[in-house]
Amino acid sequence: PPDVNALGRATWTFLHTTAAYYPVRATPEQQSSMRSLIQALGTFYPCSWCAADFRERVKVVEPDVSGRAGLSKWFCDRHNEVNENLGKETFNCDMVMERWKDGPPD
Ligand code: FAD
Repeated sequence: PPDVNALGRATWTFLHTTAAYYPVRATPEQQSSMRSLIQALGTFYPCSWCAADFRERVKVVEPDVSGRAGLSKWFCDRHNEVNENLGKETFNCDMVMERWKDGPPD
């Protein structure tokens, strides 16, 4: 089986970075593609219990695919739910652009 921690770090890097560079206002087609990506993640993520948990979360809070800010917040919140489940510290979602796009201010 895959290394669940390395897989998780790589996947969160991909998801938060993708959200940080997602269009500020996404077109209907872009929104539909992002919904598909999120659904596919719940289908194919190669940690079966993580995938099952993620599918449940997606059912509870509908993905905000409207644009960059909403999507970044949505992934940040879902990641924080996993953090809490694993007894990790939660992340301040106000910092998500600094962490995943812009870097710290000069
Ligand atoms: P990670 O949690 O991987 O975080 C990487 C970096 O992201 C951190 O160093 C921090 O800089 C930043 N970060 C942290 N929180 C946030 C946030 N809320 N928003 C933005 N950036 C943040 N593991 C399990 O054991 N059980 C599960 O059920 C499980 N489900 C998962 C579901 C998904 C969809 C994914 C992608 C991963 C899942 N994982 C699960 C893996 C788990 O979330 C971690 O990736 C893994 O435990 C390694 O954690 P880490 O402490 O190295 O940092």
